[in-house]
Amino acid sequence: MATTRVYELAKEFGISSKEVMQRLRHYGFEIATHMSFVPSDGVERIRRDFAHTTGTQTVSAEQKLDLSSQKSAPSVRGRVSVPPVASIPVEEEGLVVTPMTVGEFAERTHVLLSDIIISLLRNSIAASKNQVISEEQVAWLAQKHGIKIRSKNVLPSTSAEPRSYGTRETVGGVKRQPVVVIVGHVDHGKTTLLDTIRKTHVASREKGGITQHLGAYEATTAHGAITFLDTPGHAAFSMIRSRGVQGADIAVLVVAADDGVKPQTVEALKIVQQSEIPLIVAINKIDKASTAQIESVKRQLTNYGVVPEEWGGQTSFVPISARLDTGVEALLEGIILQAEVMELQADLAAPVVGFILESHVEKGLGAVGTIVTRHGILSVGDYFIAGATEGRVTAMINAQGKRLQSLYPAIPAKIAGFSSMPHVGDELIVTSEKPERVSRMASQLGTERIRGMMVGTDTEKQIRLVIKADTASSLEAIMGSLGLIGEKLKHHIAVIYEGIGSITENDVVRAADAKAHLYGLHVKIEPNARQLARQRHIEVHVYDIIYRLLESIESLAEQERVVEKVSKKVGEAVVLKVFDIKKMGIIAGAQVKSGIFSRDGLVKIFRGKKLVGEGLIKSLQRDRKSVKEVHTGYECAFLVDNFEAWEEGDRVECYVQTLVTA
Ligand code: GDP
Repeated sequence: MATTRVYELAKEFGISSKEVMQRLRHYGFEIATHMSFVPSDGVERIRRDFAHTTGTQTVSAEQKLDLSSQKSAPSVRGRVSVPPVASIPVEEEGLVVTPMTVGEFAERTHVLLSDIIISLLRNSIAASKNQVISEEQVAWLAQKHGIKIRSKNVLPSTSAEPRSYGTRETVGGVKRQPVVVIVGHVDHGKTTLLDTIRKTHVASREKGGITQHLGAYEATTAHGAITFLDTPGHAAFSMIRSRGVQGADIAVLVVAADDGVKPQTVEALKIVQQSEIPLIVAINKIDKASTAQIESVKRQLTNYGVVPEEWGGQTSFVPISARLDTGVEALLEGIILQAEVMELQADLAAPVVGFILESHVEKGLGAVGTIVTRHGILSVGDYFIAGATEGRVTAMINAQGKRLQSLYPAIPAKIAGFSSMPHVGDELIVTSEKPERVSRMASQLGTERIRGMMVGTDTEKQIRLVIKADTASSLEAIMGSLGLIGEKLKHHIAVIYEGIGSITENDVVRAADAKAHLYGLHVKIEPNARQLARQRHIEVHVYDIIYRLLESIESLAEQERVVEKVSKKVGEAVVLKVFDIKKMGIIAGAQVKSGIFSRDGLVKIFRGKKLVGEGLIKSLQRDRKSVKEVHTGYECAFLVDNFEAWEEGDRVECYVQTLVTA
């Protein structure tokens, strides 16, 4: 019985699954994917083919091509055993190690082309002048010919080198692991799924290392590694998700079988479809759903153009129970298969482009951001721009708390060296020189930003907030959601200050001075701040769950709305006569043309179209008696504070303040 799978054979010989599949098919075996079992005679054929190779130096038949057939020269498949980093001379000045052609190597190092080709040949690598050689091969050649390597370009230590680069096959681009984002309606199980995968597929802390929260984690599966963007699980994070999707290769849409397609399912789907990234549907909570419900989810999704493979469509649907860890393995396999089909590649020679997942301030490191890059190798010492900030990489730390010199694409890591806090979702781009201060404002303010955010329509009331949160992504999520609350309640929500970290005395003072409400998410209140808050009668609202915080702000906005005063026009009159009454002042005698005139009213006086004055009614009379109000058609006389320049024919509008409750 066949027990060996394609990828296992590939691993055994340090070659790609693709090559194993091609060979097997060539020998007449039917092989569907890298996950397929290989019949024992197939295993033997492959073992025979590679019997003469060692783990680190693999020579395939094509490599023995002679140098004259260069036009169709295959990519370099030979693998060079790279000496330990310490033995390679490393200097400030020197060769920058990136994949390059053999010709470029010769040009940059002034080593004779023929010598290089011979060196490579001795290592069983047949390479022509125009052939691209990998970074490892460049480093190895440099060492062999006594060429100094630029210090910021130190090769990755083996521990820092990601697994997926173990089988480099195409030179210039290397295979990289997929970056996956999980989206879906609230409570459909996104967080549970991320937790389950983390528990079952992420090695817990390494010896001596501290597992870092990076806003992303790498899961190791039998078939390869996957990077999951670990965005928090509440609807409030849909904003981040929409950004997260841009940084991802594959989206997993979680739909709870017992609840079906919901508004946020559709919203998430739209974002994914706009981003044009492949989608896998995880139908969750099958432990408590009937087959009919599962089928119903499939049917519902077809309305949005998502058709299951078994119905002739393009999307794979995986039934899972995130809670019971059922089907999760199959989902991971599905992700890997999708990634294989996409042939995800990272161009290591390309300029580094990354994506900020998280940011916060860390003792000893200052503003740090966690990133996942798509291309290029980010090195300590690199200058970069990230949205409104910039900096130079002073340290890089991976999920195991290990310091890295170089960071490969698709691997999450924390980087230090930002001049101010980067925003979640911003792109990080490496620059060849020290960047200009991108935003003086950002750097002056350091880690905290002051922002006046106005949301809502033109009512006079405003809810002022001072908000502190543990991370920039939490803050971003709050800010995004406040926008929605403001719109929904047609209210001004003014965030007069937002910052990261504990609630301090300064925050209390800010809130007190601005008559603002003080809110915190996942933060502590410093003892002094607590005391000061008590003295200044400021209530400090701290929450651990974002939607509780949002609910509280929402109900605050609701309450304020109840007492909100709005000016409403209630009537209009025309001045017929003007009386100058001694000791009282100038009185307008007028007729109410529409609505009513009220003693509590505010009037606006128009001459033609021009507003000539306004004021509060001091006295309102009808038939020389003081009255509360005068109705349409009646004549009246009124005295207004601040205005006496009445003329016959003036048009007067009367307004009263009303309390709005809805
Ligand atoms: P999110 O809002 O999408 O992140 O959803 P959560 O992961 O917080 O899950 C919402 C609720 O559904 C929680 O009470 C979970 O325990 C529960 N849940 C998640 N996955 C499953 C599942 O597979 N089966 C069952 N029965 N409950 C689940």
